[in-house]
Amino acid sequence: MPNIVSTQRTGNWKLAALALFLSGALAIPAPDASSTDAAASSTATTEPFPYEVSTLTDADVEEYPEISFDDIIYTEHTSSKRSVSDLVCKVISADSKWPSSKLWGIVNFLTGKKLIPTVPLAAPCYNGEYYNATRCAEITASWHDSDLHDQDPTSIMSPFYQGATCMPTTDPTGSCTLGGYPNYVIKAKTVFDIQVAVNFARNFGVRLVVKNTGHDFSGKSSGANSISVWTHFFNDIKNIPKFNRLGWSGPAFKVGAGVQGRDVYAAAKAQGLVVVGGEGMTVGYAGGYLAGGGHSPLSSIYGMGADHVLEYEVVTGDGRFVTANAERNSDLFWALRGGGGSTFGIVTSVIVKAYPDLPVTTATFSFSSTDLEAYWDAVKVYFNTFITNADAGTYAYFSIFTGTFNMAPFFAPNLSAADVTALLQPLFDKLDSLNIEYTPVITEHESFFDAWQATFPKELVGYTTVQTASRLFPRANWVDEATFDKTFAVIRSVVEEQGMLLGFNMKNEFPGGGEPDNSVNPAWRQSVLHAIGAASWDASATPEEIQAKRDYLTNVQMQKWRDVTPGSGAYLGESDIQEPNFQQAFYGENYARLYQLKQRFDPKSVFYASTAVGSEDWTLDLEGRLCPN
Ligand SMILES: Cc1cc2nc3c(=O)[nH]c(=O)nc-3n(C[C@H](O)[C@H](O)[C@H](O)COP(=O)(O)OP(=O)(O)OC[C@H]3O[C@@H](n4cnc5c(N)ncnc54)[C@H](O)[C@@H]3O)c2cc1C
Repeated sequence: MPNIVSTQRTGNWKLAALALFLSGALAIPAPDASSTDAAASSTATTEPFPYEVSTLTDADVEEYPEISFDDIIYTEHTSSKRSVSDLVCKVISADSKWPSSKLWGIVNFLTGKKLIPTVPLAAPCYNGEYYNATRCAEITASWHDSDLHDQDPTSIMSPFYQGATCMPTTDPTGSCTLGGYPNYVIKAKTVFDIQVAVNFARNFGVRLVVKNTGHDFSGKSSGANSISVWTHFFNDIKNIPKFNRLGWSGPAFKVGAGVQGRDVYAAAKAQGLVVVGGEGMTVGYAGGYLAGGGHSPLSSIYGMGADHVLEYEVVTGDGRFVTANAERNSDLFWALRGGGGSTFGIVTSVIVKAYPDLPVTTATFSFSSTDLEAYWDAVKVYFNTFITNADAGTYAYFSIFTGTFNMAPFFAPNLSAADVTALLQPLFDKLDSLNIEYTPVITEHESFFDAWQATFPKELVGYTTVQTASRLFPRANWVDEATFDKTFAVIRSVVEEQGMLLGFNMKNEFPGGGEPDNSVNPAWRQSVLHAIGAASWDASATPEEIQAKRDYLTNVQMQKWRDVTPGSGAYLGESDIQEPNFQQAFYGENYARLYQLKQRFDPKSVFYASTAVGSEDWTLDLEGRLCPN
């Protein structure tokens, strides 16, 4: 096991070695795996992955006060004593209080050289020490492929929010700067590494960000003047055939924080099982996806991804490694399931329920028409089937452009091709009557994974000329013809202006009924449509023109959607960073409790992300310094 700092081997050798390391005189080998302090971790988790056994101990921090814990903050049964006014600005790299290179060297040493200074992904396209024309060509060719970004320490899928300060180019004389990228990254391979980063960031007032895959729509897995924790290498998956505690007697999977959706699905299929995860192929599972609630191709039969979590392992803002489940740290457990990523701690693994694999029928088709009235008539007939389709257990992922509709796919667990054809028949009949062509491909698959892999697209990422915003449309909007007509007209008017909508028709009722025991946005429970709109602009647009487009999307077009869905909300995982009253929109009536728990579990605001719980207490000044309001 790499990079474990042991209590048994602590002593003068470390200090002496550190002095030599910092002076550059000696390369220090990583301490030996046999020195793991298992006692410290055994209280934190019942079934640790190997990387969860390597934890930071009190003995370690005695020697390195730079990474000492902050035990004043976290206790299970007491609430916080701090008020917002106790907080101070985070430091920026231009400040005299920014940690010296000697201090960064301590972090690098203790983590076995896992501290990486940020080099923007597209730096090889620019003159200077990283210039490499071949590598630049490779990066340029795959810039819109999510795998390129999830394998890079700091790159994110929405570079617009990073400032797009180092994009691929054929002009190597341009400028490539850090912009909104972190200064350093911990390429975490053990819980110990994460604890060192959390304690260091907190003790020195450095902003901390967390990146898993970098899929966040609003760039929340990046941030300037920060140290980032990269969880991508926590990749273990363990099948637990009979998980017999916490009220669940059935199969489960323990999944590392870096595991992506496709890998957990493949592991489940191998056992004849499924887990409730997203449609996105490369999206992380245990990180931002479950933290935001997580909609799924199985949502209409099983609810949200977060509804199936049994247990988390997590490093909290005080640097401690704790277990959160319905019996231990139950408030933290509640908050982690819906309250958003990078808010309450850094998750290292999760245990989720699994279910028997199931057959799925998929349908994919598209239709186009230059007769836009006829086209919208057909789309409206489809929208009118949303309640029936969601109640039948289906999940539909579709896009609407001016005059073109694409279903990719209509996903129907436990239904046959005949069932699917019957559900889609109203639309097909309408298309027939309008003489609009469509050629549905309807396929019965034996297993969830096969259906998922065969039909969901690997979405393109990396654009800087688009911003999205979304809204959850409740079932009540379909309650009678007049309400539905009004709802559809409003949706249509926005799409006609912007030329694009991504839609998800599903329901997300809490499994088994009753009151949800987690912090998923309550708006999800009523919703049958998650609609994503977008503003776009030319690459040559000025900052003022871009802002005007963004404001129009947020404040004019999305306001129409808000007005027709009063009291509903929006999905924080696929949202608008400018969402007004984000507290209500993303968290609903859970916000007050989430905010209170934020004070309790992270009173020093070690974790910050825009629109995350408690983020309203902070403002970025013009120099990029995060300061309390
Ligand atoms: C192409 C695409 C497809 C998508 N498909 C779906 C879908 O089918 N269903 C759905 O519900 N959503 C979907 N999403 C939205 C996605 O679930 C969210 O953006 C989610 O937050 C991504 O999580 P991540 O960990 O992969 O990404 P990241 O961007 O790395 O992280 C997202 C947020 O979580 C935080 N975070 C990451 N890891 C941890 C951790 N270990 N502990 C604590 N905080 C952490 C980050 O700091 C950040 O704030 C999709 C997004 C994209 C771009």
